[in-house]
Amino acid sequence: MQSQTNRGDGLKTPVQFIKGIGPKRAATLDSLGIRTVHDLLYYFPRRYLDLSRVEKIGALTSLINSDEWVSVVGQVRSFQLMGRRFKQRFEMTLGDETGTIQLTFFQNAHYFKTAFQIGDTLAVSGRVTAFRNRPQMIHPAIDRLSGDKEEGDDKDQYLKTAGIISQYSSSEELRIVHLDSKGIRRIMKNALDMYLHELDDFLPSTIGKANNLIALRDAIKQIHFPGSDSELENARYRLKFDELFILQVLLALRRKHSTVDLPGIAFNVESKLARKLVDSLPFTLTKAQVKVIKDIAGDMKSARPMNRLLQGDVGSGKTIVAAVSMLIAIDNGYQAAFMAPTEILAEQHFHTLAKLFKDLPVNVRLLVSGQKKRLRTDILEDIQRGSAQLVVGTHALIQEGVEFGKLGMVVIDEQHRFGVMQRSILKEKGVVSHNGRLYPDVLVMTATPIPRTLSLTIYGDLDVSVIDELPRHRKPIKTVIRTESQQQSVYDFIRSEIISGRQVYIVYPLVEESEKLDLKAATESYEFLRTKVFIDCKVGLLHGRMAPEEKDSIMEEFKSKKLDILVATTVVEVGIDVPNASVMIIEHAERFGLSQLHQLRGRVGRGVEQSYCILMAPDWLGSKVRRISSLNEDDDEQDRMIVERRLSTMLKTTDGFKIAEIDLELRGPGDFFGTRQSGMPELQIANLITDGEILTLARKEAFALIDRDPHLDLAADQPLKKYFNERLTGARTLIEVS
Ligand code: ADP
Ligand code: MG
Repeated sequence: MQSQTNRGDGLKTPVQFIKGIGPKRAATLDSLGIRTVHDLLYYFPRRYLDLSRVEKIGALTSLINSDEWVSVVGQVRSFQLMGRRFKQRFEMTLGDETGTIQLTFFQNAHYFKTAFQIGDTLAVSGRVTAFRNRPQMIHPAIDRLSGDKEEGDDKDQYLKTAGIISQYSSSEELRIVHLDSKGIRRIMKNALDMYLHELDDFLPSTIGKANNLIALRDAIKQIHFPGSDSELENARYRLKFDELFILQVLLALRRKHSTVDLPGIAFNVESKLARKLVDSLPFTLTKAQVKVIKDIAGDMKSARPMNRLLQGDVGSGKTIVAAVSMLIAIDNGYQAAFMAPTEILAEQHFHTLAKLFKDLPVNVRLLVSGQKKRLRTDILEDIQRGSAQLVVGTHALIQEGVEFGKLGMVVIDEQHRFGVMQRSILKEKGVVSHNGRLYPDVLVMTATPIPRTLSLTIYGDLDVSVIDELPRHRKPIKTVIRTESQQQSVYDFIRSEIISGRQVYIVYPLVEESEKLDLKAATESYEFLRTKVFIDCKVGLLHGRMAPEEKDSIMEEFKSKKLDILVATTVVEVGIDVPNASVMIIEHAERFGLSQLHQLRGRVGRGVEQSYCILMAPDWLGSKVRRISSLNEDDDEQDRMIVERRLSTMLKTTDGFKIAEIDLELRGPGDFFGTRQSGMPELQIANLITDGEILTLARKEAFALIDRDPHLDLAADQPLKKYFNERLTGARTLIEVS
């Protein structure tokens, strides 16, 4: 079938027109988001099986419990359904000339029951365990190399070029319409035969040449059917480059719109107020703090709006840096806004800043939701008049009805909680002067140290400063795992710390979906601890559902040592600063993300005393955590593996950068900040951890391109423009919000 329309349009053809796809398969693919030929061509294999590198089944005995991911090829010798009705499992014996292995499936047993025939040749991959002293794989990945109910085997030979077989992830829905890995290979082959010649290369050819990239059509063909390792490598390189390049073009556009083209305020950075503050501190700033303040002052002097990300691990002293910057703006007659992600944190910052500024003529106000109406009206007026010089608040700051008289500086703390949108809304509250709008300077602060590769994407439109040094005299926090059965010894330890004058956090997880339940867990434990375990101590409870004043007074009591133990939900996660607290107990540590654990741990270790972080985990985890190596791709085991890896990471390091990198690896970049929040297209093939080099090259090209052709008007850039117009309609709005 030849397309009658413009070249390239054939890629928009619904998948149903591909040979081998009828209405039923089309509907199934549709439910997985694969609607057009283009979608299908960009459904890349999940992994590859190199037939020259499979193990013999006889060799598996020595790999039992080795944690290694191995592949074997063999024939189906027998299979059966075992067990009772509701607990059925499917067992199959696979053999080659050297031995046999048992494959066991606890899920989808009924599907498997009819899926195979004796004699089918299968490639299976997984980890080897033992069953009655014989090698076994539980839920291995399976790929059929021969034997298919729909068609004979003969036609399949061409799919196995040079022994590298692409393997696609399938699902139960797909398997029902016989689109297992092999089925997908077949329709992919048809799609390539019919439509590949219509795929347009959108990359400007000079960029392709300069980076030794292969043609897009070759890349797409070879990613699905690689003829050799090097073909596969080239294809992957090209497609990764594409993804990262598109991402960086978006960022280059966004940056252009958010800084280069906008009028900002040129501040006089010789600020008496800032000087006075620094002189009044009981400590001297670290070198890193001084350097970062210089970066910021440089931006503030310029008439372009600042867009800077300040990265610094928990406890590195970002607040002072923000305070100095805000004082510069205030000294110039402007207002500053400081936005924090939670009420507790906003309140804490409000107190910290008010205290820091107590000898300075600065009017500091707090704006959070739930304040009494009269108070709120008063604050809003103060903000509008411009007499509220520093306004600390939550996202209440960006709600409608909040009008700043003369906003010159915006600080956003713990940015990963906020999206790109919120950042720009706050910016839009800038000054309207006689010659139009002046945009405030924006300083985004994050305690989650973001791997460089990620900051080049999520924050790729921002300039980055890093506080890479902690204030001196901090002792590293000791981290241990304790299981439920060790509860008593943990209580004893808590008591001994309290006796020597320290304070303790006990944190319970709070997952959104079951907020009520978790709240109950925290509340009940609080009652239990207070009345049964620590009868002689003062125990407080803090959670997100409390009224602002209530939270505030509990925090105050903890700070002023009126409480020994603070039982809390994750509301204490970020920013809370009580140097005398030396023990952080995290209950159900297995339910927290890695960055969250790191943040929680960061609540202790802030004073001169030795601090401890105790991760409470279920018994099954305790013994395992120490022997975890790397992840495999078996979905069923994956969750457990991730939990184990998270906790073992916490034991091994306190380095926030390291932790963030592993977190990113475990969660994927989309999840790391929430895809929707970041507003970025998902990466399918590029990996921000391992493809940093490609990222750098793609970024360089993308920024150079937008410099020389900001509106993509040049002839050479037309295919790219077309690509953006057709494929990234969502991304267009992303560009527009900035
Ligand atoms: P974070 O970067 O986590 O927001 P903070 O700004 O809350 O860190 O600072 C953590 C603690 O360290 C605070 O008690 C602060 O007063 C203190 N601090 C900040 N800078 C220094 C410094 N240069 N020397 C000693 N202590 C400092
Ligand atoms: Mg902070």
